[in-house]
Amino acid sequence: MTIHLYNTLLREKQVFQPIDPLNVRIYVCGPTVYDYAHIGNARPVVAFDVLYRLLRHVYGPDHVTYARNITDIDDKIMAAAEKTGESIESITTRTAGWYHDDMAALGALPPDREPRATAYVPQMIRLIEQLIAKGFAYEAERHVLFNVPAMQDYGKLSRRSLDDMIAGARVDVAPYKKHPADFTLWKPSADNQIGWDSPWGKGRPGWHIECSAMSGDILGEVFDIHAGGIDLIFPHHENEIAQSRCAHGTPVMANYWLHNGFVQVNGQKMSKSLGNFFTVHELLEEGFRGEAIRLALLSAHYRQPIDITREGIIEAKAQLDRFYGALAKVADMAVDPAPTDHVLAAIADDLNTPLALSELHELVTKLNKATNETEKKVAKTELLGGAQLLGLLWQDPAKWLQSGGSGIETAEIEALIAARLAAKKTKNFAEADRIRNDLAAKGILLEDNSMGTTWRRA
Ligand SMILES: [Zn+2]
Repeated sequence: MTIHLYNTLLREKQVFQPIDPLNVRIYVCGPTVYDYAHIGNARPVVAFDVLYRLLRHVYGPDHVTYARNITDIDDKIMAAAEKTGESIESITTRTAGWYHDDMAALGALPPDREPRATAYVPQMIRLIEQLIAKGFAYEAERHVLFNVPAMQDYGKLSRRSLDDMIAGARVDVAPYKKHPADFTLWKPSADNQIGWDSPWGKGRPGWHIECSAMSGDILGEVFDIHAGGIDLIFPHHENEIAQSRCAHGTPVMANYWLHNGFVQVNGQKMSKSLGNFFTVHELLEEGFRGEAIRLALLSAHYRQPIDITREGIIEAKAQLDRFYGALAKVADMAVDPAPTDHVLAAIADDLNTPLALSELHELVTKLNKATNETEKKVAKTELLGGAQLLGLLWQDPAKWLQSGGSGIETAEIEALIAARLAAKKTKNFAEADRIRNDLAAKGILLEDNSMGTTWRRA
């Protein structure tokens, strides 16, 4: 089985060749735990969960090490703690718990290793000491900075020149920086701030060094795949590469760099700073199924931007209803799931999940049309085998279908549609949208047309 992956480092699709097929090593940048994860945060988890499943299928589940960190040292966490008076540990423990629950609801396998930054501070300090000793970092005013011009080919991943970076640097560059592009490895903490003792006084690490220290400690100086969202290419991944390569003297940090595209809302990137995000938690609270959210996320190729809407998730649920409907009819038939070559080839071709999903639909058709036990058994084996690679169809079909009904009465639906119409007349579009979304969450789709508003159950 040949796996092809698009490598951001070379801007091309390559044949994947692991350093050690007995231990394929992958690192994905995990969350900074201070709030609920939004759908944009969930996309790399789901996309690279498919990669993890593929690698486990091809190399064996015991021959893959997947590490995904938890960033629990961060200024945003410190700001949250200062604002509410809650301890940092209490915030990060609770938020990491939410994250685990939400990602499990999306059918993502837990990683093999989940390092927390707070447990790796000694490794970070050692890495910084190595960088200083080799002339790649310097101390200034209790900060330690990476000396960007000291690295010959800095900017290789993001393809930015040093001139671009000077132009991109803020006007108010800190006076202790030798070069505007130099970035922080360590910064001082005030007496009332969280901090660790270091050769440079009480302080805390920068975000980039956290990932270099954790990935190096767990996966080694050079490992196979490093992945994350496209917005991490610069500066985060560029700086991880600079730190790890310069400290270890290696030509690369990881051989393959994979990046998923943005989750968008009406063509705009979904992000906390733009305020146009919704969280996985709120979608689950509204009654959307985690598996439907997952299918919606996998319906576009991971490198492409994707628009996630409530309507899109309802559409994804309708697809799952079709899958589970077919499986319910052969529920008693025991099979040993195995994917077809078509599904496997689609996923092995740089995670072409849209193609794999269309293959699954063909298998459902095959299952529905099967006329004897043997045909049914083959179709079910193949359908479940492909679904396993995508992390779908893990639930009991009968239970899925029974809990699919929204339970909302026709009279209530019509009353809400009337209320929405009234809201629109007074130009209260926020309220009109809220009613529409509430109904959508209950599986009721509205359609405005020349005759007014019609509705149907999803
Ligand atoms: Zn990282």
